Amino acid sequence: MIKPMSQIYLFTSLVAYFSMEVGLDPAIPTYSGGLGVLAGDTLRAAADLSIPMVGVTLLHRKGYFRQHLDAQGNQTESPAVWSPEEFLEPLPPWVSITINGRKVSIRAWRYMLHGLSGHIVPVYFLDTALDENNQWDRTLTDCLYGGDELYRLCQEAVLGLGGIAMLRALGHRRVQAYHMNEGHSALLALALLSERTQGGSLQATTSADIEAIRHRCIFTTHTPVPAGHDIFPLEMAQQVLGEEVIRFLQRINCCSNDTLNMTYLALFFSRYINGVSMRHEEVSRSMFPNYPINSITNGVHATTWTSMPFCRLYDHYISEWRHDNLYLRYAISIPLEKIREAHAEAKQELLAEVDRRSGVRLNPSVMTLGFARRATAYKRSDLLFSNLDRLKTIAQQIGPLQIIYGGKAHPHDEGGKALIRRIFEAANALRGIVPVVYLEEYDMALARLMCAGVDLWVNTPKRPQEASGTSGMKAALNGVPSFSILDGWWIEGHVEGVTGWSIGEDWGLESNPSKDYVFLYNKLEHIIIPMFYGRHKAFTEVMRSTIAINASFFNAQRMVLQYLENAYLTSANHNHPDNHPESP
Ligand SMILES: *Cc1c(COP(=O)(O)O)cnc(C)c1O
Repeated sequence: MIKPMSQIYLFTSLVAYFSMEVGLDPAIPTYSGGLGVLAGDTLRAAADLSIPMVGVTLLHRKGYFRQHLDAQGNQTESPAVWSPEEFLEPLPPWVSITINGRKVSIRAWRYMLHGLSGHIVPVYFLDTALDENNQWDRTLTDCLYGGDELYRLCQEAVLGLGGIAMLRALGHRRVQAYHMNEGHSALLALALLSERTQGGSLQATTSADIEAIRHRCIFTTHTPVPAGHDIFPLEMAQQVLGEEVIRFLQRINCCSNDTLNMTYLALFFSRYINGVSMRHEEVSRSMFPNYPINSITNGVHATTWTSMPFCRLYDHYISEWRHDNLYLRYAISIPLEKIREAHAEAKQELLAEVDRRSGVRLNPSVMTLGFARRATAYKRSDLLFSNLDRLKTIAQQIGPLQIIYGGKAHPHDEGGKALIRRIFEAANALRGIVPVVYLEEYDMALARLMCAGVDLWVNTPKRPQEASGTSGMKAALNGVPSFSILDGWWIEGHVEGVTGWSIGEDWGLESNPSKDYVFLYNKLEHIIIPMFYGRHKAFTEVMRSTIAINASFFNAQRMVLQYLENAYLTSANHNHPDNHPESP
């Protein structure tokens, strides 16, 4: 699958990858969850594959936020202030954009991402905290997903318009593909357009101009619910971007019901559009029936997410795995006891961290379930606790269980915060029978420990809202099987009893909350726990085939090569639906 180098070098210019959040390092808190971690994994894989890519994001000086949980599970937040100086290099050029009728200056900080064979992918973090900006404009690159709508729209202007200006100032003039990771950066298309028309009136743009921009833009959508898409009141958009821009956006149908829809803007200007799993492609097509939506299923960066014990194991048995993740297929011949040993070590590391953080000593021989991701309603982190009596009975009669949780709720997500409290309540009710620990501050470092150290990775999203999900892929790299609702990537990765287990059987329909938890308990009771305690060899075989079947495929190397083949290197899509005669 690895492309011959010649084909990669044919690729004379760059891919510019735009993302509002990027997870590069646990010490750089400029990501909130899956979207940012995916961006980091994409850039890391591009560096490994020597693909000439650059990343563009915002500096987020106050990070996402630090999470504090009290004894009842009430979440409070404080800024996750960090020092860009420690990790990034400030670059000399300053550029400016006009928003809200005034000039905002922007500079960039550079992070150098080194690939396996030394190729470097620079990532530019845009920063408006400059003396010449007014007080408010200086804060625009402070908080990821903080502030109100106006703040957010201005941030998106900095990312899209400022990002293009900065690339030019840094000498990246001939970029072949602009990849928008979610619609937050969609305004970049307007910057490209005004560059092409040399600042001339937008009203005078021709369909050839638009086609030329489309030729360069790629859009990955991540949100399977209409409410998740970024929209702004038209009046506000007019204030921020100016009247002429809004008239133009209306003309190309990117505004509806007095709002500017960033997804429509990205769809309009992209020649290649994709969802992040096959199921998500389907769901996105039904939301945007006029567009040719493809899918490239997400993947995770193998060496980032593989624990040390498994790295050593793979280095020993399949040493090629680092430069070509397909070799993980051959994990199928690793001796079972070696898998067991590596997992026991990863589990020990996790339990030591649980003890260090919470003072709770979990038992290494007890089956340990893990659940960690953003705490938000559709993820249903409390589904496991739908019937506490049943759960207690299972733990007492079939085999003991312990559960480790993690995940932050967005500061304004009251539903997400309530979920965390409910888990604390359940933990109290289960005390003495099923130990439940909720760890604060779920981040990349904790994800790495948790996905590797538990015995079963649980995911219970409400269908069809999980666009892909990636933490189960991290678990697979460490031989940890998933137990999940059939949605997102798991529809593709699930082979019953071979790579893990499904919660429920069908995947086409919407979730039925009153059934899902019954499926969950039934399978735990009758299949999974009995296998874990009674059939060690069979359980370890599941662990091993999880690696061979899923880690060899759901990795970022395969994902980036698919982007290369299907999106970056292909030519324009001349069948774009907005490319009809009456189009401007
Ligand atoms: C991988 C990861 C996620 C995404 O997990 P999902 O399974 O996609 O919900 C979120 N947060 C962190 C810190 C991660 O490492």
